Formats: sequence, C-alpha cells, structure tokens
Amino acid sequence: MNQEESLVLKKSVNSVLDTMVKLGFDITKEISELKHIKMGLLRKSSVYRHGVTRYFPTSKWDSKKPNPSCVRVVDIHPLLLEPEWEIYREIIIFHEFIHCLGYLGHNKIFYKLESLWPTIKQKKVLGNKFMKKLKLKNSTWKWICPKCKIEVLRQRKSSGKYICIKCNCKLIDKAIR
Ligand SMILES: [Zn+2]
Ligand SMILES: [Zn+2]
Repeated sequence: MNQEESLVLKKSVNSVLDTMVKLGFDITKEISELKHIKMGLLRKSSVYRHGVTRYFPTSKWDSKKPNPSCVRVVDIHPLLLEPEWEIYREIIIFHEFIHCLGYLGHNKIFYKLESLWPTIKQKKVLGNKFMKKLKLKNSTWKWICPKCKIEVLRQRKSSGKYICIKCNCKLIDKAIR
C-alpha cells in the first residue's frame, strides 16, 4: 500500500468510527479497540470478496468470543480506495468492523447492527456495480454472439469452441483492450 492509499484508508476508518460513535457504539471500549485494527488490501483479482476480517488462530485468542484483539488484519479491495467508491468503501469497513467486535456470522443480530449504517440501503446497488467493474477489469475477452449480439466477459478466448445458448451460433472473440 502506498502512502496515498493508506491515507485514504485511514480517513475512511476514522469517518466510520465517528459515525459508529453517533450510532451509539461504546466509545471507551469498542471504538478505542477498533482504532488499532490493522488494515490491509485484498488481491486486485478478487471479484466477489470486497472485504475480509482475518483472525489470529483461536489458540491465540484471549477469550472464547473473539474481540478486536483477536483480529490479525482487515483487508478491503484496493479498487475501493478510488474516490468514486467512498460510500461503498465505508459500508464495507463498517461491515468488517462488526465482525471485529465478535459477530462472526451473518445472522439476524449481525444484520440488525449493519442496518444501522446511514447509507446501508445503497449497499446492494453499489456492491453489484462494483462487482461489474471488477469483472470487466479482470476480463480480457468478450465472447459475442454475432446474431443475438449477446456478450459474455471471459478471461480466455472461446476459440470457436462455444455456441450461443439461445441461437446455437458460434461465438466470436473480441479483445477488450
Ligand atoms: Zn461479512
Ligand atoms: Zn445467439
């Protein structure tokens, strides 16, 4: 992570923590513990994962239920650091911070906490938009049906081996860049 990236990340983390204070999370305990969480980046090629909380092995935990001290690192997708993803970036960081507080699974309690986030209603739309962008970024070929004009993004060429599921036409390859 370069300096600029780590600054963007730090700013977002602080902004998330400020909002969490407003939402009523415990300042002296939860927020102060989250302040020291180590942040990192996922691999660029990650498409479906936009954030992940990685814990130390359970043998190193100081309690049965995990807490922020059991977290090794929170990684988010590097593309989230671009300015246009600020809202989604903070949604993802908040999501991971809930995991850090000891809520491991995506259950009712988890989603109830997550739903407190001011922009949570945008999560689905932004997430889909982000995934679409990642897919495009990670693809080098478009497989196109010359008849229906349907396009599929792929990492490799179809090389005349695939046909359109609708019309049985042989798909053609077009390089994306
Ligand atoms: Zn999660
Ligand atoms: Zn077709």
